[in-house]
Order: sequence, then C-alpha cells, then structure tokens
Amino acid sequence: MRRLIDRLEQKRSLSKEEWIALIEGMQDASYLFERARTAAQKYYGNAVYVRGLIEVSNYCKNNCYYCGIRRGNCEAVRYRLSEEEILNCCRQGYALGFRTFVLQGGEDAYFTDDRLADLVAAIKTSYPDCALTLSLGERSKDSYQRLFDAGADRYLLRHETADGDHYQRLHPAEMSYQGRMECLWNLKEIGFQVGCGFMVGSPGQTAEHLAEDMLFIAKLQPQMVGVGPFVPHHGTPFAKESKGSVDRTIYLLALLRLLKPNLLLPATTALGTVDAAGREKGILAGANVVMPNLSPVGVRKKYELYDNKICTGDETAEALNSLARRFLHIGYRLEMGRGDPVEET
Ligand code: SAM
Repeated sequence: MRRLIDRLEQKRSLSKEEWIALIEGMQDASYLFERARTAAQKYYGNAVYVRGLIEVSNYCKNNCYYCGIRRGNCEAVRYRLSEEEILNCCRQGYALGFRTFVLQGGEDAYFTDDRLADLVAAIKTSYPDCALTLSLGERSKDSYQRLFDAGADRYLLRHETADGDHYQRLHPAEMSYQGRMECLWNLKEIGFQVGCGFMVGSPGQTAEHLAEDMLFIAKLQPQMVGVGPFVPHHGTPFAKESKGSVDRTIYLLALLRLLKPNLLLPATTALGTVDAAGREKGILAGANVVMPNLSPVGVRKKYELYDNKICTGDETAEALNSLARRFLHIGYRLEMGRGDPVEET
C-alpha cells in the first residue's frame, strides 16, 4: 500500500480501482498518517483552525433517513434562534477571540433570502474582520448569489455520497442527487469557498462509494471537506444501524489530506462523540479544523443530529483553554484567525 500512498502524494490523484484498494485494505496507517501530517504542516504548520458553530434552527423540511432533526422526528423539540440571539452568539464568540462563525441549521422556511441577507449583512457590518460560513442546505442559485453578495464567504453543503443510488438509499425520493450536485457547482461558480463532505459508515456504503467520493472531491476541488462517522439517532429510520468506524474515518481524513494538501479539514464533533480522543486522532491523521459550539447552551441538546452528540460548554474561555491544552499535548496550537485556505503549490 505504501506504493499507492506515495503515488497519491505525488500525483494527487488515483484511479477508482486504486482508491478502492486503499480504502478496503486500510493498510500502512501509521505511514499514511505521518505523510498526511507532513503535508498539513507544510501548508498550515501546527495550527488547528477554530470556527465558532452557531446552530440557528432545528426546523427542517427534509426527511433524511439518518438525521435526528428530520421533519418526521416528532420527538424533536424544535427551536429557532432570533436574529438578536444569533448576533449575541457572535458577540460572545468575538470577545473570546473567534474570527470565523458558521451558521448551520435545518432547511427552515423562516430563513427567507431577505431575512438571511439582512442577517449576513448585519454580522459582516459588526464584524468585518470575521469570515462567515453558511450551512443551511439546498437553495436556488439566486438565493446563494444574494447571500454571497450580502457578504457570506463560505458555504458548507455535504454531498453525503457521490453515488446516485446510494444517495437515494439515504434520502426520500423527494430529495435528488442531481439537485445536491447542482447546488455544489452553483456555490463554486458564485465564488464561495465551498465545503462538501460525507459520513463514513452510512448505511449501504461500500468502498466503491467512498472511492466515488474521492473522485468527486478531486473534480469539485472544494476548499473544505467535512467527514465524520455516521452515528445512529433513535428517532430515525436508521436507528438500528451500526455507527461508522473511527479508524476508517481517520484513514479517509489522511487520504483527503494527500489528495488536496491545502484542504481545510475538520476533526468533527461526530468523531469526538464516538471516541473521546477522536478529535486528537483526526488532527494526527491530517485534519486541521475544529468547530466548537457557540450556540446558546439551552438549545444545544435540541440540535441532536445523532444520539449522545457532545454538547459541552466549548464556548467558555475555560473550555477553549482546555481544548487548547489537549491539542498542545499532541503538538498543535489553536489558531483563532479567519483561517482562509492557503494557495496550493
Ligand atoms: N441542513 C444543512 C445541510 O443539510 O447541509 C445543515 C445541517 S445538516 C444536519 C449537517 C450534516 O450533519 C449533514 O450534512 C450530515 O452529513 C450530518 N449528519 C446528519 N445526521 C447525522 C448522523 N446521524 N450521523 C452523523 N452525521 C450526521
């Protein structure tokens, strides 16, 4: 496998068969992780970029089979933050040193283009030195354009899987793989820094599907890729499915680092949920971003995408210090700046 790992590092591409061999074999992990860390360090040194995550609403019109905030989960206690509450989260985050905020939520009809554009403009006016990321699902190209024009810098929309049939295994018929792909290409064309991504171990996923994910990412050339293990939620059709493997997740993170060495690659909350040391393992496999939660403590439990999602008080100065200590312990430092991608060389 070293031969394939070296080839990936040099060529930054592999054939579908080669991807499958690596992903199925999962061999030479320590060698791969060492190469991935070296690649990350070349671009980002020992920095771990910090993004403040604000979970703005758990209302969602979609019914994704895996997701705890799907509209069909009647047990979910719904909430939506007001504009004032969202600005308050930014204010608190800014005071703690955060210089980038991520507004994430379900596809909530309350957030019309007018309301969102006003919100984006208000945040960018108050914090012009901060980068603003949106992660609010599928919208029309015009809508994305308005949000970009209002000042949003980045957009995260996981593609979930690059295989059309597998996409339909994870989503009801009313959701379409083509639609998802179109959104991602639109975001790219408009000029957002774009993030796609997928869950590892989602029901029905094979090594071939993951190989297709890698090929898709090579084609899209996003600035960010969010990859975390699938974790079942008791209120979904996938309640009884098994969770994704930590080892496979970090192996894929390392492969992504070699595929596109300047990627912004989070060690996700899901990784930290299934393994207490998951985020450190992710960093040591080449990840370079963490997204502490800045949502008001009272709503955190309600944004439950999967069971036992960690929802500690990461936003407090003390918790941020303890996160910093954890990463320092493995040789990394928290970097609170905007964290834009470094040009690829
Ligand atoms: N509605 C927006 C969207 O669809 O992009 C943003 C919120 S959505 C809940 C964010 C991501 O959470 C999804 O893209 C999905 O990959 C992840 N997610 C949802 N349910 C999950 C689960 N059971 N396990 C792990 N990740 C999950």
